[in-house]
Amino acid sequence: MEAALQDAIETVDASALREVLDGRYRIVREHTRAILARPEFSKPSDPLPTEDYRELVTEWTRKLAGTGGPALLFPEEFGGLGRVGEAIASFETLALSDLSLLVKCGVQFGLFGGAVHHLGTRKHHERYLDQIASFELPGAFAMSESGHGSNVQNVQTTATYDPETQELVVETPTEEDRKDYIGNAARDGRLAAVFCQLVVGGEKRGVHCVLVPLRDDSGDVVDGVRIEDCGHKLGLHGVDNGRIYFDGIRVPRDNLLDRYAQISPEGEYTSPIENENRRFFTMLGTLIQGRISVGGASIGATKVALTIAVRHSLRRRQFGPPDSDEELPLLDFRVHQRRLLPALARTYALHFTQAGVVEELARIFGADDGTATQSDEEQLARRELESRAAGLKALATWHATATIQECREACGGAGYLSENRLGELRADTDVFTTFEGDNTILLQLVAKGLLTSYRDEFVSMNPIATVGFVAGQAWETVVEKTAVRELIQRLTDDLVPGRERDEDLLDRDYHLNLFRWREEHILTGAARRLKRGIDDGADPFEVFNECQDHVLAAARAHTEREVLEAFADACEQCEDAGLRVVLDRLCDLHALAEIERDRAWFQEHGRISSTRAKAITRSVNSLCEGLRAHAGELVDAFGIPDELVSAPIGLPGGPASAGAMAPLDDELPDVRMLVRELGMEQGS
Ligand SMILES: Cc1cc2nc3c(=O)[nH]c(=O)nc-3n(C[C@H](O)[C@H](O)[C@H](O)COP(=O)(O)OP(=O)(O)OC[C@H]3O[C@@H](n4cnc5c(N)ncnc54)[C@H](O)[C@@H]3O)c2cc1C
Repeated sequence: MEAALQDAIETVDASALREVLDGRYRIVREHTRAILARPEFSKPSDPLPTEDYRELVTEWTRKLAGTGGPALLFPEEFGGLGRVGEAIASFETLALSDLSLLVKCGVQFGLFGGAVHHLGTRKHHERYLDQIASFELPGAFAMSESGHGSNVQNVQTTATYDPETQELVVETPTEEDRKDYIGNAARDGRLAAVFCQLVVGGEKRGVHCVLVPLRDDSGDVVDGVRIEDCGHKLGLHGVDNGRIYFDGIRVPRDNLLDRYAQISPEGEYTSPIENENRRFFTMLGTLIQGRISVGGASIGATKVALTIAVRHSLRRRQFGPPDSDEELPLLDFRVHQRRLLPALARTYALHFTQAGVVEELARIFGADDGTATQSDEEQLARRELESRAAGLKALATWHATATIQECREACGGAGYLSENRLGELRADTDVFTTFEGDNTILLQLVAKGLLTSYRDEFVSMNPIATVGFVAGQAWETVVEKTAVRELIQRLTDDLVPGRERDEDLLDRDYHLNLFRWREEHILTGAARRLKRGIDDGADPFEVFNECQDHVLAAARAHTEREVLEAFADACEQCEDAGLRVVLDRLCDLHALAEIERDRAWFQEHGRISSTRAKAITRSVNSLCEGLRAHAGELVDAFGIPDELVSAPIGLPGGPASAGAMAPLDDELPDVRMLVRELGMEQGS
């Protein structure tokens, strides 16, 4: 197999591969790269003082807003361009640049703008969307509190309706209930989308979102609001995260973002979604684009780190055969290949999975008519997307953290120098595993979806009842899938150790079946344990807690299967025969490296023999060896302009070529012009 593999890939056309990766949003990605590569967006490699850095990031955000990029996100009738897919693709491209800029833009346009867009109605859109897209109105998305981050449904800030004045009174009851970590709060934010418990006529109505001013036009904090800086953070030093306290500030009734619930002047509360929990989850579901954007951004940042580390490993020489004076490039060493190339393959896998999720987001939200209720079919599609996005965000951000660290080490001392960016990339992406949904919490969301088949009851119950419900129906739900399982069982019959054959190792169906079998097996086991606990009369919360690690393993295995399927589909769809071979090899490496990582589990469960496990390790080595010759092209295909790579060791010509800068055009290119000139179709 080894020899065949070496022969299989002759050359890799990096620019053709780049087109495949850029996919349907190629034009917008190119446009965003061109903007970010300009000198206006360059940054000194030495750290700036915090305030100067924040000022620079604010200035960059304003400039980007001027190019019309953020307008892609908002509907045309309110001054936007109405292209959700392009907006996310552009945001993902931002991750090749400074990550404080990325997060500042994410907060302003994605989170704050997204809350006004998706939770508000026409009056809010007319009043604010234009100013949000242009950054004339800097804003914040104030959901988390010191006391409640993951458990958002339990935030304690209140907004109490006063029918006398037709105002909402916003209050932070205790120190624990202050809004915490809020981006854009410490310095720039003038208005905040504040998530709080709505109280109308003395009755609590659950979490809603209310617009509350933070600062006046001169930038002074308004009466009734106190703001503190969160202080020094691990990374993202250009973002002004702050804590907000509300001391009974009054805002007009219209400041309630009222797509999902309204208050009449007299104080009558109405909502088209009667059930409070269901309303809450529906509202949160509309904010899904933030989570998808963070997943995409983490993949972008990983590409930068791999570009730097792979190029360095192709140039840097250490040691060599005893009979030679010549030392070898680092990437000729097997261990170095194993450190970088499976991570590279997985980055490709996550890239294609992300592309599918963005496509589905664009399909669903492109058709959003702004009403509060959806058909059953639409609801199911949304819930499935939420689950896919949650799992992918978790896997992609964990992958970023692990890979960037590996890249740092793989570059030795040079990797530790600030000018080579890896330290900053690591520090800035670290929190991606926490914000927009902590990864562990997100995997629980995926697991609950798997165990309940997204049945309606799931979203109409509080979290404790949900746990009981999941535990109670998990077995039934999983058994409903028995037919599918039996089919898979038949398909995988030849996986039993006695019938293993060497040539199966690069068989895509072999990989897919192993991934599917692992998912089904873990899921069935978790459901069986939950059922046993419930049947024995144990407390459902306890039962669920007992099985939590098992349930999360099921969610992880499920998402791994989705990622492999997405990569396999991308290979199938590739029409260029040469590129198809390269993608197939990368997909093989991704699949076999994951099976190798989890080989103890597969062996424990009798799915692979120890002989086969060793053969898998040999295949991973062999695939690494085969792909080594093309590693440079495989990172070139990420299409990261030299100005954005910026690390001297990561430039194609090495440190000696540092300092080149794109010529300065007169004006920043404008995405609105691009859309007009090209008459760009959605997704062209
Ligand atoms: C730099 C930064 C920027 C941010 N920006 C914003 C912003 O602009 N707006 C905003 O609203 N928020 C923002 N956040 C807040 C962020 O969304 C929260 O930090 C996040 O949701 C996690 O909440 P938490 O910090 O309270 O952690 P916790 O919820 O306390 O979680 C701590 C740990 O406990 C685990 N855990 C929690 N519950 C369970 C459970 N049931 N089972 C098992 N494990 C559990 C989690 O996995 C996690 O590892 C930001 C945070 C940071 C650090």
